Formats: sequence, C-alpha cells, structure tokens
Amino acid sequence: MTTLRLVLGDQLNASHPWFRQPDDGCVVVMMEIRSETDYVIHHAQKVLAIFAAMRRFAEALRAAGHRVHYLRIGDSENRQGFAANLQWLAAHYQATRFERMEADEWRVERLLDEASARLGLPSTVVDAAHFLCERGELAQAFSSERVPRLEYFYRDMRRRHGLLLDDHQKPVGGRWNFDADNRARWPGEPPTPDWPWAPTDVSALWQEIVAAGVRTLGEPGADALAWPLTRSQARAGLQAFIKQALPHFGRFQDAMSTREPLLFHSGLSFALNTKMLHPREVIDAALEAFEAGAVDIAACEGFVRQILGWREYVRGVYWSRMPDYAQTNALQARRPLPRWYWTGETHMACLRHAIGQSLRLAYAHHIQRLMITGNFALLAGCDPDAVDAWYLGIYIDAFEWVEMPNTRGMSQYADGGLVASKPYAASASYIKRQSDYCKGCRYAATRRHGDDACPFNALYWDFMLRHEADFASNPRMAMPYRAWKRMDEPERTATLEHAHRLLERLDTL
Ligand code: FAD
Repeated sequence: MTTLRLVLGDQLNASHPWFRQPDDGCVVVMMEIRSETDYVIHHAQKVLAIFAAMRRFAEALRAAGHRVHYLRIGDSENRQGFAANLQWLAAHYQATRFERMEADEWRVERLLDEASARLGLPSTVVDAAHFLCERGELAQAFSSERVPRLEYFYRDMRRRHGLLLDDHQKPVGGRWNFDADNRARWPGEPPTPDWPWAPTDVSALWQEIVAAGVRTLGEPGADALAWPLTRSQARAGLQAFIKQALPHFGRFQDAMSTREPLLFHSGLSFALNTKMLHPREVIDAALEAFEAGAVDIAACEGFVRQILGWREYVRGVYWSRMPDYAQTNALQARRPLPRWYWTGETHMACLRHAIGQSLRLAYAHHIQRLMITGNFALLAGCDPDAVDAWYLGIYIDAFEWVEMPNTRGMSQYADGGLVASKPYAASASYIKRQSDYCKGCRYAATRRHGDDACPFNALYWDFMLRHEADFASNPRMAMPYRAWKRMDEPERTATLEHAHRLLERLDTL
C-alpha cells in the first residue's frame, strides 16, 4: 500500500502537515520536467533557482527520514510531463493512492486533474498550507460578479488576523494606509544594505539544463547564483531585510536608482512564492521590529500591506476570474513588444536600465516593473498576451497566479479596471521625479516632441487621447485631461504627430 505524494517546485513548504513525521507508506515525488520549463521562455536564473531549491528540499526531506523519488531534468526515466511520470511512478511503486497539494496556477491545476484522472487511483487534493486566505474564503470575498477594492480587502484581512489594530479595533497610528508618506526619491542616502544572499555555484546543474535543451533568457550567472535556495538562506535574508532595509522601506518604496537594484526592497518574493517562507512569519518579523521600536508605522504598514494585502488580493482576482482573465484586453492593445525588451538595447536610459537589470538579475522591484517596463508597454499599446509572457518569463518570482493580475490588471489595465482604479500611465516627469534614470539620457524628459524628446511624453498623451472615451469620466483622471485642454493647439498637434511617428518605429527607440 503506497501513496504517491506530489510536491511541485513552488511547494517547498517544510512546515506542511505532510512532513511532520516520516511515513514509510508514502513516497514524496518531485520532478523537473520540460512541460514546466517550456510553457514560456523563463529566465535562466529562474530555472536554476527553482531546480536547485527543489534538489535541496528533497535532500532535506530524505535527511529527515522521508522516502523521496526525485526525477532530474536529464534522467533517462523522466517522461518530462506530470501525467506520464506519475503513471510510470505509480506502476514502479505499485501505488494505491495519489495525493497532491492544491496548485496555485490554473494551468497546473488542470494538468494535474487530467494526470490524476489518467492514474485512476483514489486521490486527495490537500491545501498547500501557505496563504493567509484559503481558497474557500477567497471564493466568498471574490466572485465572478464582484471583486472588492484592495483597500477594503486589506482592511478586512487586518481585522480578520488582528494585525496592527489597537484595543478598540482601530488601525494603529490612526490610519489604515501610510502610502502618502512613502513617495520619496532616493538621494543616495541612507546607504542601502548589501544584496542579501551570497552566491552559490550551480554550474553543474546549469550543464544539465543546457544538455536537456531547455531554452532560457537572461544571464545564467550559474557560477554565482545569488538567490536563497534553502529555507535557512531565506530566513537569513528575511532577518537581514528587517534589520537593515525595513526602516527605510516605506519612504523609498517608489524610488528607482541606477546604482541599486533592490534599494530597500526585500527580494523575498522568490522565497515566498516557492513557499520556503510563510507570509505570516514575514509579517510577524516586521511587526516585531515595529513593536521593538526599530521601525516606524509607515514602513511597517507599507510592508505588511504588500503581503497581507496585495499578495493575497491578486490571488483572489486570479482564482475568481480564470480562465477568462487570461483573454482580457479591455484597451484592445495589439502591438508586439519592442525587440529591445529581450536585450535592453534602447536609447531610453530608464528602460535600458530596468530591462538590463532584469536580464542580469531576474529581478526588478515593483516600481521598475509598473512604471518603467509596464508603463511603456501600456502607452505603446502592446498586446497583453505578449506583455504577460515577458513578465512570466523574466522574473525569478513569476508564477501566473501573481504575475497575471499584476501585469494584465494593475499594469496593462487589460481587465478594464478590476485591479487598478485608473491606468498606471505616466509621462517622463514621473520617472524624472522618482529616479536618477534621466540623467545622461539621450532624450530630454522635459520635451514632448522633436528628435530628442523623451518618448514617454508623446506616447503618454497619445494614450490618453486614444482612450479618452474610456477614462475621461474617471474623476481620478480629470487633471491630465484638463491639462491637455489648456495646451496650445500647435503643441497638441505636434505632440500627437510625434507619437504616431514613434509608434511606427518602436524597435529603434
Ligand atoms: P518587496 O517590495 O520587498 O515587497 C514584499 C513582498 O510583498 C514581495 O516579496 C511580494 O511577495 C509582496 N508583494 C509586493 N507587491 C505585490 C504585488 N503587487 N502583488 C503581489 N505581491 C506583492 N510579484 C510576484 O511575486 N511575482 C510576479 O510574477 C510579479 N509580477 C509582477 C508584474 C508586474 C507588471 C508588476 C507591476 C508587479 C509584479 N509583481 C509580481 C509584484 C511585485 O512587483 C513583486 O512582488 C516585487 O517586486 C517582488 O520584489 P520584493 O520581494 O523585493 O518585494
């Protein structure tokens, strides 16, 4: 009587009830398969980090006495898909039962349902014991008719989990949201902490991945992969963040710099999304620092909101709206992404930097993703399918449940305003205010037209005019439309004509 228990690459949760004690009747099955490496082209470091972390997790389970069958990407018996591997393993172990955890991605959930049906064994799907809002609770808060606004969902989560509330159930500090205090540019001071993780040499694994023929993008950096590959490395990164970066997290949350990829962000999304870290332990570490007086309320609240609020919220949007969400294109955007999204070779310094950094590190922080790469794709009217595939591939933390609502919803407004109450469209002045990108750029941030004008400006106005019918009645958009009307007619014409010329030659910008 053997039970096969499948653990996916993003289910590396050592605290899962399955692993409380070894059970000789169970074989934990883990597999590196082509169906997962190939559904989109991933960054090399993403493939490396997931496989390396899976291997270390399997080793830790074995060391704790669990039976583990691990299929490496190059193993001859690896059939490279869930269904075929599970069938072979079921026969090999004469399995009588199949168990799995809920998958976070709709695509994987369907594949595993099919695989399970083909096995024909009694089977169970258990909770992955990770999120703060279970699927059932999510279904109550999010439905096909109604998606709450983030702010209300987040307040509700604070109340439900009793976090940052005073004795009268009011928010600590007198406000639910300290966003308004969190918009500073980083002037180079205070100094930023070092990158949280020491490099690991994973060259041998990279050879296996290359030999298997997996296509990737970005720099592998296999001799110096600087991401957490074990829970203890992830915990050390959390502790370093709380001590060194959290005190400044809120204030510089929206800042961007050519000098510092992380600034005061945590870099914890990979560890969280692969479940090496539990969101509650990350939140508790921030609350502890606040209670000890090491960080102020704006920093603590700003950070807690990302994890208790945004991270759980986008999952609610995803599971209540899939599979239709993947087809949304409310703004009817059809252009391909400019070619330089895969090389970083553009004259626009901000994009060159944000894309170059992403190719080098498989990481960009939120404002780089939203206000540089996402903003440009939005203004240029790029097809959300292409934008989605790019974000899903390039970032170390990209799994569809969290990537898609952020990309299609928040960044591209393709869901028609379900996630974002207004499009995150901005001209060069925003980028200049929040970053040092414009210094030395070939284009002038202050100009709307002419060869040296920053393309963000003309494209911004073209976007606004193209979608006037969609946005003019939105009170949060009233200001820019008023500003447009105040502009001289020749200036308006020159700006729009310039935008049209830019749209003809996006690849050359
Ligand atoms: P920090 O700034 O330190 O934030 C702490 C944690 O909060 C993050 O680790 C993350 O778990 C959570 N968080 C913060 N913002 C969000 C958010 N908007 N949605 C969900 N969780 C959030 N995040 C992913 O985890 N995977 C993705 O594939 C992904 N794709 C994105 C695509 C676009 C276009 C945009 C605009 C955002 C995307 N995000 C994604 C959200 C966010 O940018 C990343 O979570 C964050 O940059 C990760 O870096 P960090 O760990 O340093 O975050």
